Amino acid sequence: MNRPYNFSAGPAAIPEEVLQQAASEMLDWHGCGMGVMEMSHRGKEFISIYQTAEVDLRELLAVPANFKILFMQGGGLAENAIVPLNLSKGGTVDFVVTGSWSKKSFQEAGKYASSHLAASGEASGFTSVPDAASWKLSSNAAYVHLCSNETIHGVEFQQLPDLKALGCDAPLVIDFSSHVASRPVDWSRVGLAFGGAQKNIGPAGLTMVIVREDLLGHALSICPTAFDYKVVAENESMFNTPPTWGIYMAGLTFQWLKRQTEGGLTGIAAMQARNMAKAELLYGYIDNSQLYVNQVDKAYRSRMNVPFLLRDESRNDAFLAGAKARGLLQLKGHKSVGGMRASIYNAVPLVGVQALVDYMRDFEKTA
Ligand SMILES: *Cc1c(COP(=O)(O)O)cnc(C)c1O
Repeated sequence: MNRPYNFSAGPAAIPEEVLQQAASEMLDWHGCGMGVMEMSHRGKEFISIYQTAEVDLRELLAVPANFKILFMQGGGLAENAIVPLNLSKGGTVDFVVTGSWSKKSFQEAGKYASSHLAASGEASGFTSVPDAASWKLSSNAAYVHLCSNETIHGVEFQQLPDLKALGCDAPLVIDFSSHVASRPVDWSRVGLAFGGAQKNIGPAGLTMVIVREDLLGHALSICPTAFDYKVVAENESMFNTPPTWGIYMAGLTFQWLKRQTEGGLTGIAAMQARNMAKAELLYGYIDNSQLYVNQVDKAYRSRMNVPFLLRDESRNDAFLAGAKARGLLQLKGHKSVGGMRASIYNAVPLVGVQALVDYMRDFEKTA
């Protein structure tokens, strides 16, 4: 029997092939007599797992040579503090707030720097993104922060802003937790990207930070040593024990990503094509239905997280129960938005989205 389709926002679905490989290697990794969770992070076995994961991520995301890839702990919320501790120099930091996650980042940075709200989509209920030309960027910001995919509100930047063209020399920091590896990244516009692994990469506990080298070495003196990017980079993410299991699982996912093909494309380009097809199928159905509605501005709709409401909210529980019975799991929306949310990350195949649409159509007919 097929496994159910899992639409969780995070921790989220992991490709079945990855889970199966991890299961088969659980007790004995490559004949060394140990499972990955049991091995020293400084032994040659784990070092090879780590190095392969790093090289594969760099290749998949086309990370330029002047960026460091750090594997840390703490998740996205810890990065909300770790980024200003490392980059703010205690000065002004600009925020473009487009949903719950960037709002949290804005609030947390205020503990270490002076957070400036350059733009906010809150007046629209976070259903759209203020036009970049209207952003009130500071002349002296240490960096500009945005969340490139808002997991709760389903708002995604389809392209990153070109800060230079807006007259701003500050580096751009992006929280790409919930769409990393779903599409290419334009590194020419980015100074630092961070993301927790548990949306699109693997288990919770691993945080990826990809940072331009010139941004290292400016941490505030109060920055915990284990969170000083320069220290982490100099020690190849092994100043403290890194999340070894998470790195291993991420590495298996990276290899899975490299194997993916779609109409002559491979890797992230293949995922992007597939994710576009998935999103088109689901939004297309919602927009043409009488029962369901997605309120996000079409120009900013997320390909990964699709929140939708039932026009008749009294049917929510029946919708969820029927979905579960069909093997369609974790569709309940975030409590702050209500309704439903289908997270259609890389590990959710097109046939899974088709199964969801088929169910939604059948449910609509039973009104
Ligand atoms: C899930 C998520 C986070 C929070 O990650 P934690 O690991 O819980 O700290 C931060 N930002 C975005 C965009 C997310 O989707």
